[in-house]
Amino acid sequence: MRKKIVAGNRKMNTTLEEGIQLAGSIEQMLSHSKFSNVVVIIAPPFTHLTGVSKILKTGYVELGAQNCGYESKGAYTGEVSAPMLKSAGVKYVIIGHSERRTYFRETDEELNMKAKLVLDNGMKPIFCCGESLAERNQGNHFDVVKRQIDEGIFNLSKEEFRNIVIAYEPVWAIGTGVNATPEQAQEMHIYIRGLIAERHNNVIAQTTSILYGGSCKPSNAQELFRKPDVDGGLIGGASLNAMDFIGIINAAAMIES
Ligand code: PEP
Repeated sequence: MRKKIVAGNRKMNTTLEEGIQLAGSIEQMLSHSKFSNVVVIIAPPFTHLTGVSKILKTGYVELGAQNCGYESKGAYTGEVSAPMLKSAGVKYVIIGHSERRTYFRETDEELNMKAKLVLDNGMKPIFCCGESLAERNQGNHFDVVKRQIDEGIFNLSKEEFRNIVIAYEPVWAIGTGVNATPEQAQEMHIYIRGLIAERHNNVIAQTTSILYGGSCKPSNAQELFRKPDVDGGLIGGASLNAMDFIGIINAAAMIES
């Protein structure tokens, strides 16, 4: 019922030339495999979007962005708005990545405004949530994720919610080499799906894609993606290497949805 999704978050990495080359290699490798059961997304830095968009011609790879402003235009020096992303060919926007929440102090209220703007402009938010190590050690991980989702996206209508993708990314797993176990991921994903069923209904809960993110690589992707409520991955470091990223896509493609 739910297609697997593999989304590459390139963060603040690669020059324009390197970024375009990497996207080209991925698209070329994918054109030989023609997966129909995996949605592949690349989210490069803003300055690469139009260049990458021009080379993504085959339709195997969708364009994503890593963030957007919480207003749609005006005097917000340095910000990039949802309408601008839309006009650059972006289909998905990562909202609320833990690095944005921590280093740029983005609040739940701002993230909610961003998610709404992304939807209003016909794109899909990839809404990130996840607890810190201290929060998990205190046994607060479910409460933290519930609060982030409640305040970030639960005021959206049923219609809007149909276009939401959620990424559960435990902060302690991001870029550390220590992934959540498949059981830890599954436990949180099914909890999130339960929250969606309570807030909306079971149909929406069953059709919402919930990705796992945090040190996902070709060697662990398959066991993570095999869990019934893990609908793919948001990939950081491993998306910077074409072979690794393709390895993760292959892992997703081998699992029947
Ligand atoms: C991320 O930043 O979204 C992420 C999952 O990073 P990594 O795969 O490097 O842990």
